[in-house]
Amino acid sequence: MEPLLNADLHCHSVVSDGTLTPEALAARAKANGVQLWALTDHDEIGGQDRAIAAAKAHDLKYLTGVEISITFAGKTVHIVGLGFDHTQTDMVQGLRNTRGGRGERAKEMSEGLSKVGIHGAYEGALKFAGNHELISRTHFARFLVESGVCKDTSEVFRKYLTENKPGFVPHRWASLENAVKWITHAGGVAVIAHPARYGFTANEEYALFTEFKNHGGRAVEVLTGSHTSAEALRYADTALEFELAASRGSDFHSPDESHTDLGTLPWLPGKLTPVWELLSDRIQ
Ligand code: AMP
Ligand code: MN
Ligand code: MN
Ligand code: MN
Repeated sequence: MEPLLNADLHCHSVVSDGTLTPEALAARAKANGVQLWALTDHDEIGGQDRAIAAAKAHDLKYLTGVEISITFAGKTVHIVGLGFDHTQTDMVQGLRNTRGGRGERAKEMSEGLSKVGIHGAYEGALKFAGNHELISRTHFARFLVESGVCKDTSEVFRKYLTENKPGFVPHRWASLENAVKWITHAGGVAVIAHPARYGFTANEEYALFTEFKNHGGRAVEVLTGSHTSAEALRYADTALEFELAASRGSDFHSPDESHTDLGTLPWLPGKLTPVWELLSDRIQ
């Protein structure tokens, strides 16, 4: 396969916490020169059939996708799955379970916010959620911007939605082992998403990569909208060290919020194995 493929294998639609429909994302990806695309909604594959059809309509190559929330070493980590059979029941049931706690969590977040004088946040956030099973911190952030509490979503996260802040509620997500199993048993490849984001110590990060590989994980995001160029270089080395393939994805959520648009990241360094080379028979 062509080494310099404009692949964008990480983005979100209204089915999770993006603001565009799967159809609008496909059109935007095509317009931006993307050749291989994956929609990776959080803990949810309900948008996959729409994404597959939209990709086909735009003559865009497609891999099925998901971004699964897990808890590892007390922190939330994201595992992207690519190229799996999205009708496989273990994955469907597993993701349903991992989505399950979000409603209660959102109510507790709202209670925390009301203690600092921000009222009606649950109902407010719900209005922004295209999928009520997937109410997320992003929807709270949009509500707090709309109601004038903060000027943008990063300010909301900084002041209200991260650890030790009034709207933060710790949550136990899926296990690393289960997430990797759901993906690999359905014929896909598991990918560690944006590794620089987690703030792990060197030992914790080593444990994450080692256990991920032991469970059958095969790739890591090197180029993502969440990495600086220095972080991309660092994780290119980590990919080589752990003999993992490399992925590339913008993590695009919204034209108004995301600084990295679909298909606009630099190319993967040539010394890395692109994850789509492991998935050539899964591309549709
Ligand atoms: P949740 O799954 O409800 O914990 O929400 C996680 C989502 O919040 C991530 O996927 C991002 O879209 C968004 N997010 C997390 N941290 C930040 C941040 N510092 N600034 C903006 N968005 C963030
Ligand atoms: Mn998100
Ligand atoms: Mn993520
Ligand atoms: Mn993401």
